Amino acid sequence: MEQFPIFLNLNNFPCAVVGGGDVAFRKASALLKAQAELTIISPKVCPELKQLIDDHHLTWLNQNYQDQLIDNMRLVVAATDNETVNAQVYAYCEAHKILINTVDSPKYCRYTTPSIVDRSPILIAISSAGMSPVLARRIRATIESSLPQALGEIAEYAGSLRTRIKQAFSTLDQRRTFWENFFSSSIVSRFRQLKAEQKEQIVNDLIANEQVQGEVWLVGAGPGDEELLTIKALQKMQLADVIVYDRLISQKTLDLARKDADFICVGKQKNYHLKQQEEINDLLVRLAQEGKKVCRLKGGDPFIFGRGGEELETLVEHQIPFQVIPAVTAAAGCASYAGIPLTHRDYARKVVFVTGQNSKAGDYPDWQALVRPYQTLVVYMGLTRAQLIKDELIHHGMSKSMPVAIVEKGTTREQKVYVGNLDNLPQLARDNQIGSPALLIIGEVVKLANTLNWFNPDELTDETSTFNTYIKP
Ligand code: SAH
Repeated sequence: MEQFPIFLNLNNFPCAVVGGGDVAFRKASALLKAQAELTIISPKVCPELKQLIDDHHLTWLNQNYQDQLIDNMRLVVAATDNETVNAQVYAYCEAHKILINTVDSPKYCRYTTPSIVDRSPILIAISSAGMSPVLARRIRATIESSLPQALGEIAEYAGSLRTRIKQAFSTLDQRRTFWENFFSSSIVSRFRQLKAEQKEQIVNDLIANEQVQGEVWLVGAGPGDEELLTIKALQKMQLADVIVYDRLISQKTLDLARKDADFICVGKQKNYHLKQQEEINDLLVRLAQEGKKVCRLKGGDPFIFGRGGEELETLVEHQIPFQVIPAVTAAAGCASYAGIPLTHRDYARKVVFVTGQNSKAGDYPDWQALVRPYQTLVVYMGLTRAQLIKDELIHHGMSKSMPVAIVEKGTTREQKVYVGNLDNLPQLARDNQIGSPALLIIGEVVKLANTLNWFNPDELTDETSTFNTYIKP
């Protein structure tokens, strides 16, 4: 270990920032967050720093740096752009046992400031010992995105319960179990949504050791590339006790979920029957009734051809609390990664999402409405109906030469984009033995695929994504 981490209490701790520019302003702001008793030393200061000085009634010594100005300081930041001055400040501080940090200059530092994730009172500090602040900042961003925003409030709330829990449970073991259950409960996952009396109820149930009600999160996992997950989706995946997922969800996506969660694949296949959907609905209800936090992970967006609505109706019937986390739908993901803008001022003012599967026999779309000019048509689950789609669209007046793209396994390492026209659509699908999932994009905008094509699936190597090692509990 190059350095020893400490958290410093700055109350009644005289600190000085030497310098008056942007960097000095940032350092001064950071010190003030921890209530430092602050002096600024600089003949000139930038407007932001001047504002800070006025707002916080700071001491401003508007003169050039001289050693005796920092005599009474206990911590100093050298933030001038003059290396000689910085070196002088450092030498003086070292000689007089004052903590010194020199911005961007590890050799003139007694201490360095870490990158922080601030969910006060929870504070996470990341240090690269001054070797690579950018790396530390990237790690910080990763941690930042994986922690609930309300973490600080949760910690404070937990703090407010401590005496009560001590009285309620006599042994350390009992108390530990309580806190384990507390932090797995919906108090954490829904802290800002719950009213005070609801939190109180959960705490009372936990104290009485009663079963806490479970809940279901209907979470969209996006079209494939796991880095397209939303921050919320990731958080839910990491909090869940059970992950109930569809066949379309990739292993790489599942790898980001809580390691010790139970994983249940409800692998829906093409032509699945209603009964299977009912079984899924019942499974969700049963798990929630057992008190589990269930992450129902669905490909793309849960409300776009995902039957998410049906699953929720069953939950409502059984009064099970739920949340819905939206996501990048296949149309948006595949179009972006294939370089096909779904709308374009010259080619399409409208975009229509349709499914190629009909829920009842004879339940056909309004083909006429799908053949309007300046419109992009995106067909989900349409590959096996390519012949019918071609025939009907042409029959209703669409040009045989209308550009068409088939995007196979969009946004993944195996993405392939096949471009043709409406007339040869069925052949395009047959000749290339396209696998599932695949999406059809029909419209003039497909012409742009050649020029706007930017995505190289080979670049989605393990290395690119392993940098983003999300925190797994
Ligand atoms: N809820 C999902 C759609 C579910 S229907 C969403 O919002 O994206 C399943 C269909 O979505 C598939 O048959 C296919 O047409 C399309 N699809 C989903 N992911 C895809 C992908 N990565 N590449 C191509 N098509 C995809």
